[in-house]
Amino acid sequence: MFLADYHLHSFPFSPDAFNTILEVAEGALEKGMTHICITNHLENCAQTPACPQQFPPMREYSALSAAFEEAKSKMDGKLDMRLGAEVGGPHFSPEEGREIYENPIFDFIIGSIHNLRTSNDFYYIEYPPIDEFRPTIGEYLYEYAELAKSGLCNVLGHIGYMHKYMARQGKSFNMMDFSDQLKEVFHAAVENGVGIEVNTSSLIDAYGDFVPNLEVLKLYRQCGGEIVTAGSDAHTAEHAGCGIREAYDLLRQAGFNFIAIFKDHKPEFIKI
Ligand SMILES: [Zn+2]
Ligand SMILES: [Zn+2]
Repeated sequence: MFLADYHLHSFPFSPDAFNTILEVAEGALEKGMTHICITNHLENCAQTPACPQQFPPMREYSALSAAFEEAKSKMDGKLDMRLGAEVGGPHFSPEEGREIYENPIFDFIIGSIHNLRTSNDFYYIEYPPIDEFRPTIGEYLYEYAELAKSGLCNVLGHIGYMHKYMARQGKSFNMMDFSDQLKEVFHAAVENGVGIEVNTSSLIDAYGDFVPNLEVLKLYRQCGGEIVTAGSDAHTAEHAGCGIREAYDLLRQAGFNFIAIFKDHKPEFIKI
């Protein structure tokens, strides 16, 4: 059975991860994955003053590439391994984003918004009552539309990232309240050949759902969206591959018959 986890972090290249590329690959294999993409954090900190210090811009490309190739050779073809990156707001500093995108060591780039240009990562926010927070969600979705138009990523990562951290503080909102803005994001994505990601990391967290959820995925489909990847966003080997089977069930419910894997930034579609 085909199973691809296309969002995985590893230590030391993602400072918030706990296991090496090899350990993550072994964990994914144990969960039955056939394909993985290692996507460590790269944040454009220079242009985002609020960027947390623990995600400095990673410039250790040769060390990363060497560690990846070594792990790949040790896995000896037991699973298909590709190297990518999760870039925070690549369009915040387009030159840096372009340099990352065009680096030949990467087959795949997830573009994520972890913070707005002038505010801290949603991870660190003390959430106000939801009505006060709505304009921030609007700005957040505006940034995804800009990101989709930028040509600096292959998929839009975890649209609705803040759900996870809001839920930990007992707060929630319905993303479909923002359906007009979501449509703008999705139309921009479709027009620019950019896909979206189903992120499974909140399934085992307080939020307990996929990010984005079924309704949002259906809307993406209605907007003509066809390119989707699934990712556990695991920061440990233990969580690698978690929720990928369930994500495929969800995608079938939303009307998708194919999942994408990437080589040299081009999607290849596999039936699910
Ligand atoms: Zn992320
Ligand atoms: Zn991530």
